[in-house]
Amino acid sequence: MARTSGRPDDAAFGSTGTVLTVDLDAVAANYRALAALAAPAGCAAVVKADAYGVGMAQAAPALAAAGCSDFFVAHLDEGIALRALLPDATIYVLNGALPGAELEFRRHGLRPVLNHLAALDAWAALGRKDGARAAALHVDSGMSRLGLADDELATLARAPARLDGIELALVMSHLVCSEEPADPLNAEQLARFRAARACLPAAPASLANSSGIFLGPDFRFDLVRAGAALYGVNPLPGQPNRMASVVRLQARILQVRRIDSPRTVGYGATHRAARPSTIATIALGYADGYLRSLGNRGVCLIGEHRVPVVGRISMDLVTLDVTGVPAGLAQPGAVVDVISERHPVDDVAAEAGTIGYEILTSLGRRYKRRYLGASA
Ligand SMILES: *Cc1c(COP(=O)(O)O)cnc(C)c1O
Repeated sequence: MARTSGRPDDAAFGSTGTVLTVDLDAVAANYRALAALAAPAGCAAVVKADAYGVGMAQAAPALAAAGCSDFFVAHLDEGIALRALLPDATIYVLNGALPGAELEFRRHGLRPVLNHLAALDAWAALGRKDGARAAALHVDSGMSRLGLADDELATLARAPARLDGIELALVMSHLVCSEEPADPLNAEQLARFRAARACLPAAPASLANSSGIFLGPDFRFDLVRAGAALYGVNPLPGQPNRMASVVRLQARILQVRRIDSPRTVGYGATHRAARPSTIATIALGYADGYLRSLGNRGVCLIGEHRVPVVGRISMDLVTLDVTGVPAGLAQPGAVVDVISERHPVDDVAAEAGTIGYEILTSLGRRYKRRYLGASA
């Protein structure tokens, strides 16, 4: 991409002038790092929501090439799409099968996560008829969202024959606040999960998400389920991020203007120039997942210069105060870093009042997407 003129590569930026670059080598490196930390437990990759917005069709093969054989998605449709990409992978569907969808799971070799007794009974009934198939059993240890409630677990413990017809491949639960290691809820959930396992037939177990891996060996059991950290989100908020940066979002400047007080910028006139200012407009907006809450709060980079977002975020446009940036760097066509290694997804999330997960999964469909790395 290096150009002697310093001009960006027009083709790489596409017609909108905004490009999202996903580094698949970084995804693979993050997988290997988490897998090494989790060992001897296995490490599964969570690729739901289009691999957290970075692109499952590209990320899943890269993860498989890095040694991953177990995958989790949220929906049946995601599982079917992943099966087409990875014929030999073990694929769990976290949301399980809605009533009547069980045959679709079997047809595509997908493993439902059985979240309640009726779902368990339906999978068992099919297995008794046509041969047992693998599934995961999810027990609720504190999320109160999906998974067997305490009374359902007690019922099952009294009638273990209900599991006949199911190949119990995994018993799992999900942590509520693993990114806060000091929270006593982590130990409570660990104790509840151990107690739940004791009520069930012996089976491999899984408790930890990305941050949970860092809570120590007690939390890793047989399989960890890494999601966000694979895609560069810091699993240990407040500490330096040890994961490799995966996404870079860059936009080219459309227009530059000089304004002076009392001019305002954007809808609602929420920013008023207090002095002569230079405003640059770039081509992304809330329709692209650059959240509206970043208005007057977000920060971008032009080279080494930090430039604040001023005014509201529009559907397709963002306005930046580039006063003080050398004119040669802040002119139509010049490149602005919106998300980058030096201003990572977690920082953008903090400015938006959300978490890196939401920034990633909101990444827009209008960006020109570019994949880097050996498996690209
Ligand atoms: C999304 C999800 C994960 C992955 O969590 P991260 O924090 O992204 O690592 C693991 N387990 C379950 C049940 C999930 O829903």
